Order: sequence, then C-alpha cells, then structure tokens
Amino acid sequence: MNPSLRISEIFYSIQGESSHVGRPTVFIRLTGCPLRCTYCDTAYAFTGGEKKFLADILAEVKRYATREVTVTGGEPLAQWGCTELLAQLADEGYRVSLETSGALDVSRIDRRVVKVMDLKTPSSGEEAKNRYENLAFLNAWDEVKFVIGDEGDYRWAKEKLEQYRIADRCEVLFSPVAGKQDAAALADKILHDQLPVRFQVQLHKLLWGDTPGR
Ligand code: SF4
Repeated sequence: MNPSLRISEIFYSIQGESSHVGRPTVFIRLTGCPLRCTYCDTAYAFTGGEKKFLADILAEVKRYATREVTVTGGEPLAQWGCTELLAQLADEGYRVSLETSGALDVSRIDRRVVKVMDLKTPSSGEEAKNRYENLAFLNAWDEVKFVIGDEGDYRWAKEKLEQYRIADRCEVLFSPVAGKQDAAALADKILHDQLPVRFQVQLHKLLWGDTPGR
C-alpha cells in the first residue's frame, strides 16, 4: 500500500525525550490533533502540512544515515495511514518510535514499534480523553509519559502509577511542563517518594529552545 499522509515536517535532530534521548533521529511530524493541551508546543502542526505518499516519505527518511525514526505530531494516529507508515518503517529496518497522546487506539500498532504514550494529566485540560484500555496493549519496551504541570498533576500521576501498576508494565517518564513546573522540584519529589520512574527534561529545548524543526 502507498497511502498518503499529511505531513507538517520531516527533520533530523537529537532525540530530546524518552529512553532514546540523545540519539540522532529522523522525525516525521504528522499534521492534525484532536486534543488541545494547555501546554502544547506544536500547535503549528494542528493544520496545514503537505500531503505526501508513503513511498516519498520513506525516500526522504533514507537521506539520513541514522536508523532511528520517530513518528510524532500533532497526534499521528489521527491519520489512518499512520499504522502503515510505522509498519513499513519497521520493515525497512528502522528502530521506530511513536509519540502518541494516549487518546486514540494503539491496539493495532506494529509490535516492533516503541510506543511512547502520554497519560494526560489534569492541568493539560485533556484528562478526560485518556483511553486507559490502551495500557493493556503496551509491551515491556514501550513507555508511558506523564507531563507534570503542578502539584495536583504529580499527585494524580502517582495515583495512576499505583492504580494501573504502570511501572510493572514498562518504562514510566515524568517530565515537567517547561516554564510551569520547576524541574529540580519535580526531581526532588521523585527521589523523596522513591518512585520507579525516569525523570526527564526536553533535551532539544535546552539545546535550541522552541525552534520548530529542532
Ligand atoms: S496531544 Fe500533543 S500535539 Fe495534541 S494538543 Fe496535546 S501536546 Fe499538542
């Protein structure tokens, strides 16, 4: 199949998040998202973009030497062709990760793909969209990300960790909302409470700020 997808940008950068942080990676940013998180830093990807055939997307990815590819958005799964894109990237031998909001069904994602799935915290304004049934489709190599904006988010995330025993399933990431949650304070809380999670800050933002395509 050679479906077309609406693409906001394809760029080569350093992976700034997840347990793959620091690796040179090709990012494919798909256009569109049904959510509107308060802290969203990619609102420019809600609309616009350019329709590209899957074969052309793969050709563009091949211009870079890395084997790491991240499919992101927006919410990539909002486009039906995304699952095919992920599978074909894996067929080509890439180490593929998918960044997804957790609001859409992940049950049909190719097992070779690392799903980095958000659980939307209360301060995102999109908590009601969390699709908890997705947790049953996570593999040990997938990751669940909580973006923490305040104390209420932290307590909520702790509760969900316990309620769904998420750290027993896969890696868990706690990340501060830039400019809202003090990063060191969050790190201190994780240590104080001895949580089995990975603290992260967005490395690409430390390096390049909010520049799109970095
Ligand atoms: S899911 Fe991601 S792209 Fe969509 S509004 Fe939230 S932060 Fe932005």
